[in-house]
Amino acid sequence: MHDQPQTPCPGPCNNAWRRSEAQRDADGTEHHLTPAWGQPIQCDDCVERSRHHIEELPELLDAALLEALEGTPAKSVGTIGRMSVITWPGQASRLLVDRIVSEMAELQADILIHRGIWKPERLPERGTAPSEPDHIRRITRALLIHWDWAMQHHPAADEPHTAGNANPGGQASAWYRTLQVFTRRDNPRLQLAAPCPRCFLKTLSHSNGETFIACRNPECELLLSRAEYDQHAKEIADAVALGQAA
Ligand SMILES: [Zn+2]
Ligand SMILES: [Zn+2]
Repeated sequence: MHDQPQTPCPGPCNNAWRRSEAQRDADGTEHHLTPAWGQPIQCDDCVERSRHHIEELPELLDAALLEALEGTPAKSVGTIGRMSVITWPGQASRLLVDRIVSEMAELQADILIHRGIWKPERLPERGTAPSEPDHIRRITRALLIHWDWAMQHHPAADEPHTAGNANPGGQASAWYRTLQVFTRRDNPRLQLAAPCPRCFLKTLSHSNGETFIACRNPECELLLSRAEYDQHAKEIADAVALGQAA
């Protein structure tokens, strides 16, 4: 039964556990945390959270592109010698969208080549202006189809979700967060009454239009469906009622 050792998930779900392990190695401080286990490499929560991030990308990229069309004002900087940095309207969003879409296309090519679907010499597809939204949706669809494989079998699936690593889950979260901040959608969030069932902090919240309820504790980042949250909130209310009756 235990011939295959379990692997702790390399995702943000285990940040607190990793810190506690490091502390124990450094000075012997014991801790009671157990890691989230990979299934077999990354845990189910991390797979679902990053899948959700991928699903949101087309809409977020559309919003960022709209900003490029409407244009952010060009600006000159510097006062001495009338130095100026050459910018054009919408430059910031254009550069951001180009970077993220080309990274998505690279990940798509990487996955399809590893899976033997594309020939090794095939290059990532480049989008062209008029069909850009289609291009983005095509890449997104391919990533979603192969997401379970990517999260468990991509050669970088066991790398930490930090900048500079190629873990598909880490890349998806980084694109999603960058676009959320750029399109100012990281707020507002509605805080929910029940504490998080995993980290026990009052950090559960959701945004308009999101079908997910997310823990905002960066060490936890648990995702719940509405039904799971309702069930959890009911269990807490029942426990409180039981405590009062006793
Ligand atoms: Zn995880
Ligand atoms: Zn939590």
